[in-house]
Amino acid sequence: MAKAQAKKKLRIGWFSFTCCEDSTIMMTELMNDHFFEWKELLDIRHAKVLKTKNSLDSLDVAFVEGAISSVLQAEKLKKIRSVSKKLVAIGSCAVTGFPSAQRNLFDQATKEEIQPILDRFRYADKVLKLDEVVPVDAIVPGCPMDTEKFLEVLDQMLKEFGIERRSKE
Ligand code: SF4
Repeated sequence: MAKAQAKKKLRIGWFSFTCCEDSTIMMTELMNDHFFEWKELLDIRHAKVLKTKNSLDSLDVAFVEGAISSVLQAEKLKKIRSVSKKLVAIGSCAVTGFPSAQRNLFDQATKEEIQPILDRFRYADKVLKLDEVVPVDAIVPGCPMDTEKFLEVLDQMLKEFGIERRSKE
């Protein structure tokens, strides 16, 4: 007997860089309403907030929050981009750099004061928004992210990748 074909799901990853991870909290809060729907539609390959075993393999969409504040983070973001067909910047820090990038605006004296911390943690001189490091396909602004806009972008990605919602019985 022929096996029923597994339903295609959207392969996604959720990643956090320099930030307070409030958009991660918003995403997990959305699960109160969307868990069972997402279970059918999403193959969550990487989301440290949800799983202990994460893989960084071929993704349809990477959702990335936070700004980029070190060479190491920039390398990791480039790696994520290289395995993802689409990359979505999540929240103001990822989209504009701010508020995580506040130190970019410090005066010289304050910059000198924080230099030992930058040296100790190998932080770069400047904090960058995502599109200063890799191409970004869509954005979800807000601090934390605008959840309505997030759902809109997720919907758009599901459509783009041909993932169909099961019709309600
Ligand atoms: S955009 Fe706001 S909520 Fe999101 S990580 Fe940055 S500071 Fe936190």
